Amino acid sequence: ALRIENLKKSYGNVPVLKGINLAVENGDVVAVIGRSGSGKSTMLRCINGLEPFQEGTIEVVGHKLDQSRANLRELRKEVGMVFQSYNLFPHLSVAENITLAPRVVKGLPRDEGSALVREVLSRVGLAEKADAYPDELSGGQQQRVAIARSLAMKPKVMLFDEVTSALDPELTGEVLKTIAQLAEAGMTMVLVTHEMGFARRVATRTVFMHQGTVWEEGKSEEIFTHPKTPELKNFIAPDL
Ligand code: ATP
Ligand code: MG
Repeated sequence: ALRIENLKKSYGNVPVLKGINLAVENGDVVAVIGRSGSGKSTMLRCINGLEPFQEGTIEVVGHKLDQSRANLRELRKEVGMVFQSYNLFPHLSVAENITLAPRVVKGLPRDEGSALVREVLSRVGLAEKADAYPDELSGGQQQRVAIARSLAMKPKVMLFDEVTSALDPELTGEVLKTIAQLAEAGMTMVLVTHEMGFARRVATRTVFMHQGTVWEEGKSEEIFTHPKTPELKNFIAPDL
């Protein structure tokens, strides 16, 4: 579904991604872990076409993006992204938040909106909230609406960047559960997370990023139980 080859990106002359290679198959759930500043968010933003890069290619379901950014629109259509801050439009209802992009970008007819809203809200367990406004929802519910809004564009790959970091612990669980259900339903996902237990349980593979490279990767169970490099060992269980 997703193939990254030799991806290099610098800000000015500071290299941030130093030649990333990563292949994600259909239905894979890949957790991306690593220290602050290791390049996790930058990589996701490159995959979604939000960041230009200097070298390498990103291919999503056959659409190949290189530094010329010629296929940007095609690629963007296939990729959904959810951030830490969910940024719902406060003056629009949940249903309107969900149908806005499909209407504007895909020309979704008005009478097909409510079926789409029902479908995506049921996938995040919020079927009864279509007419609510964002400020009537908890942070966890708002984040699940943000996930539903992204699903409404029918992406082939979903990217999540620390979607629970802004939430209280008791709300984190419901969002992680929603993501786990999407995983079970076969959605291809790449998720940056600090929730190590979740990565281990839900992700089929885990990628450890360090200093702008994929330092170590493998089956999640292997990565967490048998880390090979001192850097990963120290990240998972720091010496005190
Ligand atoms: P965190 O866990 O804190 O979210 P991260 O792994 O997501 O970290 P990135 O946000 O990808 O890290 O940042 C990687 C590096 O790129 C950092 O050194 C950061 O300072 C730098 N960087 C990120 N965005 C910019 C920018 N817009 N301009 C200049 N440097 C940037
Ligand atoms: Mg980040």
